[in-house]
Amino acid sequence: MEKTERMPVVPLEAGAGPDNPPCPACGEPLFGWIDSRAGLAGPVSRCESCGLGVVGGLGSAEEALRELDRRGSERGVTIVNRGSFSAWIGGAGWAGLERGSRYLFTVEAVRRLVAGRDQVVRSVRWRPGTGIATMWQTILNGFTFGRNGALGALGRASPVPAPKPWQRRLDALIDVVVAIPALLIAVPLELSAAALRRGGATSLRLELL
Ligand SMILES: [Zn+2]
Repeated sequence: MEKTERMPVVPLEAGAGPDNPPCPACGEPLFGWIDSRAGLAGPVSRCESCGLGVVGGLGSAEEALRELDRRGSERGVTIVNRGSFSAWIGGAGWAGLERGSRYLFTVEAVRRLVAGRDQVVRSVRWRPGTGIATMWQTILNGFTFGRNGALGALGRASPVPAPKPWQRRLDALIDVVVAIPALLIAVPLELSAAALRRGGATSLRLELL
C-alpha cells in the first residue's frame, strides 16, 4: 500500500505577526537579536532583509528618519554600521549598541528609508577612525562587565558601567591592560572588514532624486 504524506504548507507571511513587527525601513518581519540589557530601552530585533536593528517596541519609518537626520544633515549622515563585521563578532558586546539608541542602521536600511522621501544614497565611504574605535571597544567589551567604558573615558560614547563597585574597579584595570593588545587586533580586523565593505562606520552622501 502506498503511503502518502502531506508536506506542511508554510505561508510566506508566516514570519510576520505580533512578535515579528514589520521593519520600519523595508516592511519585512523583524526577528529577535539581543535580549534587553542595561542601558537599552528593551530587547533588540533586526531585519534579515535590510539589516536594520530596532531597540524596544514597534518602530516607524518617520521616527527612524528623524534619528538618522540627527546624525548628519540633509546631504549626508554617518552611521555606525549594524551590518559591520564588528557588529557580527560583537553581538551583545558590539560597541554600536549605545545607551539610549533606538535604531541601528545599515547602508541598505538607510537606502530604503530615504527612498521614501525621494532621496538616493549617492556615495558610501568608510570612516577609518570611528570604524577602528568601534572594533577596539567591541573587543574590550568582551573582557569587561560594563560596556563602552574606554570610549566613554575618551568622551566618544556614553558608557554603561557594571552594576557592582568591584566590577567597575576591575573593568578600569582591564581597560588599561587590554587597551594596546586590543588595538593591535582591532586595526587589522577593521581594515579587513572595510576591504569586504563591512567596515564599522560609514559616511553616506544623500541626494534628492
Ligand atoms: Zn528591513
